[in-house]
Amino acid sequence: MNFNPCMKHKLVRKTVRLFAETELSPIAHEIDRDARLPMEVLYKMGPLNYFGLQAPKKYGGAAMDSISYAIAVEELSRVCAAVGLCVSVHNSVGLFPILKFGTREQQDRFIPRLASGEYIGAFSLTEANAGSDAGGVETHAVKDGDSYIINGTKIFVTNGGICDLALIFAVADFNHPRQSTSVFMIQKGQAGFSVGEIEDLCGMRANPVSSLFLEDCRVPRSQLLGKVGDGLKIGLAALDAGRIGIAVQALGIAQGAFDAAVKYSKERQQFNKPIASFQTIQNYLADMATWIDAARLLVYRACAVKDSGRPYSAEAAMAKLYCSEMATRVTNMAVQVHGGYGYSKEYDVERYFRDAKVTEIYEGTSEVQRMVISRAVLSKLT
Ligand SMILES: Cc1cc2nc3c(=O)[nH]c(=O)nc-3n(C[C@H](O)[C@H](O)[C@H](O)COP(=O)(O)OP(=O)(O)OC[C@H]3O[C@@H](n4cnc5c(N)ncnc54)[C@H](O)[C@@H]3O)c2cc1C
Repeated sequence: MNFNPCMKHKLVRKTVRLFAETELSPIAHEIDRDARLPMEVLYKMGPLNYFGLQAPKKYGGAAMDSISYAIAVEELSRVCAAVGLCVSVHNSVGLFPILKFGTREQQDRFIPRLASGEYIGAFSLTEANAGSDAGGVETHAVKDGDSYIINGTKIFVTNGGICDLALIFAVADFNHPRQSTSVFMIQKGQAGFSVGEIEDLCGMRANPVSSLFLEDCRVPRSQLLGKVGDGLKIGLAALDAGRIGIAVQALGIAQGAFDAAVKYSKERQQFNKPIASFQTIQNYLADMATWIDAARLLVYRACAVKDSGRPYSAEAAMAKLYCSEMATRVTNMAVQVHGGYGYSKEYDVERYFRDAKVTEIYEGTSEVQRMVISRAVLSKLT
């Protein structure tokens, strides 16, 4: 077991950190305030492979291992979590399922466009009555010749406002919903497919999270991912990968808040001393540093198991659960270290504090992660 980062991982961290600090740091506050995804930066990210981090080289991707992917998303999220979210969702639950379950023809058609950033991907499972319970999907896909006619409303779709290709979960037979849930790859501009209002969110405000409408949307069979009934299998596999992405968003947010807290604690003087000289503040910083390190190790373990080809649902759920709850604690503490200034939008920790919370909610709440983990624990032979 080697705990030293290799040259490749060091280089990924250095390169992405430089990019994030140059391109995102100057605008992170403004795009959060204005709820604006910076397309001008996204256009620069395409040629740099941010949208094909783990896609094969033959499709124009960077073919990174999972730890490199994790480092890249962590570093983006350390500076601007909303862009980290865009990249993470696009790569892990947008592109990855097509790579894993798509036919050769589907991969040839969609992966190069996704990997280059020409297409931004979205994953659309949640509905008004289908949140934690993916079995509650009411979007309906009716077979009609060589096509499916899809009707339904999806909500809370990350990247929804700008997505070019959305994976839409729909049920083909309501008598057997779980056995007939299916995934369709639907393109922007396809008749009957439209984007709803952008959500006015507490955090991650620069990401255009929206609803998606399907009204008699005719989708050719060639855009069905896997077979009819593969939906829950595809969804669960995508979420395993996605949870590593959410874990590293949370890790990046926590690291950003921690870095800000360390800097502030050395600068801020009270009682004629920097507040970093007070034991209580030192204890806060020590706790934050320890939690962040523990979280990072859980992420790297999940990445290593994923890359070994073994099942990694429990490891991904543990990483997601720990990192997200840790990010909430760390950002809360970072605000505390900043005192009243931490509660002002003048300082970045206020944004980190808002951004962290949702990592405990999407791609499975903390309660759902505990269900996944306890199921794995209890299924082990004693
Ligand atoms: C900013 C944002 C972006 C999102 N992006 C996407 C996206 O890109 N694609 C997508 O498909 N969805 C997305 N979502 C939706 C997200 O995944 C859901 O909000 C989440 O899965 C929870 O579902 P829900 O909101 O319906 O809550 P509910 O399922 O109604 O849960 C409410 C509460 O009950 C608890 N609960 C539910 N069932 C159980 C149980 N069996 N045992 C114990 N407790 C339980 C939950 O943990 C939670 O605390 C996004 C959400 C947000 C806020």
